[in-house]
Amino acid sequence: MHDLVIRGGTIFDGTGRPGREGDVAVDGVRLTTVGGKAARGRREIDARGKAVSPGFLDIHSHSDSVALIYPLAESKTRQGVTTEAIGNCGNSAFPLLGQARDRASSMMKAMGIDTSWTTLGEYRTEVERRGVAVNLAPFIGHGTVRAAAMGMDDRAPTADELARMQELVTQAMDDGAFGLTTGLIYPPGCYSSLEEVVAVARPAAAAGGIYMSHLRNESDRLLDAVDEAIQVGRRAGLPVQISHHKAAGRDNWGKIRDSLAAIDRANAGGLDVTGDVYPYTAGSTSLATLIPAWAHAGGTGALVERLKSPETRARFRREMEEGLPGWENFAKQAGFDNVLITSVKTEKNAGLPGLTVAQAAARRGQDPYEALFDILVEEEATPGMVVFMMDEADVVRVLAHPKMMVGSDASGVAPYGPMARAKPHPRAYGTFPRVLGYFARDKGLMPLETAVWKMTGFPAERLGLADRGRLAAGLAADIVVFDPATVADKATYADPHRFPQGIEMVIVNGQVIVEGNANTGTKPGKVLRRSR
Ligand SMILES: [Zn+2]
Repeated sequence: MHDLVIRGGTIFDGTGRPGREGDVAVDGVRLTTVGGKAARGRREIDARGKAVSPGFLDIHSHSDSVALIYPLAESKTRQGVTTEAIGNCGNSAFPLLGQARDRASSMMKAMGIDTSWTTLGEYRTEVERRGVAVNLAPFIGHGTVRAAAMGMDDRAPTADELARMQELVTQAMDDGAFGLTTGLIYPPGCYSSLEEVVAVARPAAAAGGIYMSHLRNESDRLLDAVDEAIQVGRRAGLPVQISHHKAAGRDNWGKIRDSLAAIDRANAGGLDVTGDVYPYTAGSTSLATLIPAWAHAGGTGALVERLKSPETRARFRREMEEGLPGWENFAKQAGFDNVLITSVKTEKNAGLPGLTVAQAAARRGQDPYEALFDILVEEEATPGMVVFMMDEADVVRVLAHPKMMVGSDASGVAPYGPMARAKPHPRAYGTFPRVLGYFARDKGLMPLETAVWKMTGFPAERLGLADRGRLAAGLAADIVVFDPATVADKATYADPHRFPQGIEMVIVNGQVIVEGNANTGTKPGKVLRRSR
């Protein structure tokens, strides 16, 4: 007698093979039967007419510290996500040393969490002690390592500081990290050279990890930035994952053809280059990213001081209107009509989330620049934003490309607690059902088995997770049961805290975490270790 039998569903095994009818049986934390007819189960699920697939693996997540605040990760688990790769865009929850510790602990304190850990090993212990619904696959962030070794300075590291950064990466890899990430538009990552990134990636390469990058530029210099990521892979000797691949800004729409061609050429030349994409035409990041990179040197306190000065404001305005060489200028790419404020921390500004910067300025009777600078000062540079800047034709090109997989670029949140009044990007709640429903089924962009592969077997292979991402006897029992006829995202920019439809059951490590349109409260997740 099996612990659990999912009877008579159409099994999409995560390899890209078409679905076939059969049973799936689970015993303990493992799959014991996949396909054919299983013996009786202590619990039996009737899955006739439903799809049964591996749990979805979100290769681009930001749930690092949020995993402690929302351990059920409702916005992710209700989509069918069972594993999240964290530590993306250069920002990880470890090692918390020096200014990396100051930055993380003030953010965490605001949400009621004490940062008791320093290393990945200690982070793993703390997360698993509190319990977490999904598995987490941790990466170490170059920005965090840089802040730990040399603070938020806008300069090259000394030889000692570089050696310290390499030592911290080596330690995280020894603790089971999956590789290194960079966020080359964000301070302090944006202050680094290609040479520095190559040097810091070498210990990740030596330990068998991969390199995932938020490129130095996703707009006017997209192709140079793709080339830089490829050079890191070649010179440091490790596979490359281009994060949330896109062409931002109307002038750059269509450049994605050239960037995908560059990725194809690199693969043809023997380097292993892949990428991920979220299925939306807006991005999301910190509102403070609208301010030129140089002004972030020294950290958030220094930025807020600069924002108070009328002379510096005049300089910001000029640089934002004219642009600065190499700087990712979202305000210019999108325009203040296309930048939504998503979150604030003060009561005074509680009406701002959901408004564009232009609308917020009109409401305050200010010009958009002055409104933006004032809001950043009042909120101590903490607000988030959504920026409309992509073309759906490019999103489709990336999604359909055989080297591209699906990643949300969101953290696992919920409609209650500190995020309740925020208006997060709908990708937090809708990414995976939107690919399965809107793109694969409704638009016919790809067969269902291909869409499932891009969120299961393919990212698992990329991470070297040999026992996840596929349904096969002996592997970990991470499973989703969904209705292929009705699966759809429901979250919108105006009303983002809406769970998708058609995701019927989600199982992590053999335990049911979602059923009947609700989380069960079970927390069987683990902080995984690199297995190669
Ligand atoms: Zn990013």
